[in-house]
Amino acid sequence: MLSINNLHVSVEDKPILKGLSLDLPAGEVHAIMGPNGAGKSTLSYVLTGREGYEVTNGAVSLDGEDLLELEPNERAAKGLFLSFQYPLEIPGVPAMHFLRTAMNAQRKARGEPEVGAGEFIKLARETAAKLKIDFEMLKRALNVGFSGGEKKRMEIFQMAMLQPRLLILDETDSGLDIDALRIVADGVNAMRSPERSMLVITHYQRLLDYIRPDKVHVLAAGRIVASGGPELAHELEREGYEKYERAAA
Ligand code: ADP
Ligand code: MG
Ligand code: MG
Repeated sequence: MLSINNLHVSVEDKPILKGLSLDLPAGEVHAIMGPNGAGKSTLSYVLTGREGYEVTNGAVSLDGEDLLELEPNERAAKGLFLSFQYPLEIPGVPAMHFLRTAMNAQRKARGEPEVGAGEFIKLARETAAKLKIDFEMLKRALNVGFSGGEKKRMEIFQMAMLQPRLLILDETDSGLDIDALRIVADGVNAMRSPERSMLVITHYQRLLDYIRPDKVHVLAAGRIVASGGPELAHELEREGYEKYERAAA
């Protein structure tokens, strides 16, 4: 589904990703772990098409299509969803309104008709009920004054509404208490499906006890330097990244 081949990315002319290759088949959940500054967020940003991340070499395809040729909104329309480490706060914009706009942007890029107000409310109510989210929360300004756990619930709600094909979680677990961690893990696990792939970027093995990945990759010095099963996450937790950083240097 997602295929990254020898990807080189520079930020402000500084090479950050240096020959990263990764294959993520449909239906699989892969974890990427690595030391701070290894390029994990750079990878998630370049996949979503954020400005300032210059691809100097390599290729990325999603379902066989050149992902790097697409505009960020087109990527979202193809079903790419990035969950942030620090969720956006949007004062004055109710969560519901934000989400309806996102959904309609997705539909427009797919050449589908806009979601009607009634249809949207119905879908939102059903989804909120399924996820045990208080519908009143969706009327508040997006993430403003939300607790850590509420922001995570909101994110899971967004995912469930937008039904992404490729989900990227970039250190979405950092700073979360155990309850918020469970919210994320339960939400993500509920979204597992044979048509959907997930990239879980994390600094800690903790989250991977709840979201059990099919594969774990180590990202050090801008490329994948080792891959293995879930046991690799435990090894990293025990022994740290030094071995891999030295090997990559
Ligand atoms: P990670 O997410 O693994 O901690 P990042 O992808 O955030 O790593 O950062 C990788 C490297 O790129 C770091 O050295 C960081 O300082 C640099 N970097 C990332 N974004 C920018 C930016 N916008 N401007 C300058 N340097 C950046
Ligand atoms: Mg970092
Ligand atoms: Mg990061």
